[in-house]
Amino acid sequence: MKNKVPIGIVGLGYVGLVIAACFAKLGYQVTVVDIDEEKCKAINEKRSPIFEPGIDEILKKTPFKASMNPQDLADAAIIFICVNTPSKADGAISLEAIKKATEQIASVLKVKKDYCTIVVKSTVIPGTTQEVILPILEKSGKKAGQDFGLCMSPEFLREGKGINDFMQPDRIIIGEYDKKSGDALYDLFRDFKAPILRVNLTTAEMIKYASNTFLAAKLSFINEIGNICKRLGIDTYQVAQGMGYDERIGAKFLNAGVGFGGSCFPKDLKALIVHAKELGYQPKLLEEVKNVNDQQVLRMIELLKKHTSLRYKNIGLLGLSFKPGTDDIKDSVAILITQTLLAEKAIVTAYDPQAMQNFKKIFPQISYNNPDEILKCDAVLIITEWEEFSRLDYSKTKIVIDGRRVLKAKEALIYEGICW
Ligand code: NAD
Repeated sequence: MKNKVPIGIVGLGYVGLVIAACFAKLGYQVTVVDIDEEKCKAINEKRSPIFEPGIDEILKKTPFKASMNPQDLADAAIIFICVNTPSKADGAISLEAIKKATEQIASVLKVKKDYCTIVVKSTVIPGTTQEVILPILEKSGKKAGQDFGLCMSPEFLREGKGINDFMQPDRIIIGEYDKKSGDALYDLFRDFKAPILRVNLTTAEMIKYASNTFLAAKLSFINEIGNICKRLGIDTYQVAQGMGYDERIGAKFLNAGVGFGGSCFPKDLKALIVHAKELGYQPKLLEEVKNVNDQQVLRMIELLKKHTSLRYKNIGLLGLSFKPGTDDIKDSVAILITQTLLAEKAIVTAYDPQAMQNFKKIFPQISYNNPDEILKCDAVLIITEWEEFSRLDYSKTKIVIDGRRVLKAKEALIYEGICW
């Protein structure tokens, strides 16, 4: 039987938590470290600190330990770095958290006797693991490839479907500093039923950016086609269906709508644009992917204004999270829509099944209510495709502007879809 090595995880966010829960479920001894006391407390009380389906059940059956002390990682044979790498004002990513986390791991390496492999899971710009992470780890006095291993293995899980995506990945990318480092990670993942690609550290980092910006491009593409279809008076979704049968195109990610937000696509797109420019290359296609998306969000407001003025009007928002199945509102299109409505002096009331608490932290000044009350507003914008929105009774609603093709909302007195 395979030897189940102890696993350490730094960062208890959507990525670190899912990885920790999945390895605990697979029978590994898992220790997680985070700087957030509340999150650690929740884990040690066997409850999930964030909304991610399936985590609570795993915590109850196969609990694992959370701590604020990095030295608790001393027994780990593999340590995953899963901390946040957020956007800075100029679009580049901030390495502040990952540098700090790496320093803490270096302090563990310093006293550690056994060989251990450090794996960067956070999304970082190509070159970061080699040029930033490696020198910090070697400040411990230990040498990569000799005293410890170093890998970069990008994560592709989707929030809301994290457990399934981690357990049944489409592929596993192992970026390795040297063969021994890669072998340690290969051993951990070899029983997963997925192709495993072994590359160098920088290639692994680029695979993540290329994948996410490709998906973002596919969305901006179909949104642009959708904007043209709307002017033609034809159904974008039929066009997408016709396209999707072509295996070279594929049917996924062809849902036209109000645009993408979230923890990854906007951040990764901006970071790759900035980095390409630093390398002396003008990434025109990537810049347009971003521009089309930025404009798509504001098209909701444009369509709304065709039917009503905004000043002192009650505008209801259905959906605040960046997609269904999560409470994450990072870069959600609901943020820009709310800011724009408030700037136009509209009175905003919102509903989301999971994300209202998070949204209240940014917008305490708007009202929050149940969906039935939202439907009584002067106009309603559908922003997130939560399944429950397709079961509401829209028949008495005055105006619906639909960003997510909730066709039931056609019952409203005035209904307009963003691309249909
Ligand atoms: P998150 O913001 O949800 O969580 C990050 C966690 O790291 C937080 O709990 C924070 O307290 C903790 N942290 C920060 N500094 C720390 C330190 N020094 N020591 C210990 N903990 C520390 O982030 P996330 O969404 O899980 O994303 C993590 C990384 O993975 C990012 O680079 C992101 O781009 C990437 N990623 C995210 C997703 C996703 O769907 N969210 C998918 C793939 C990749």
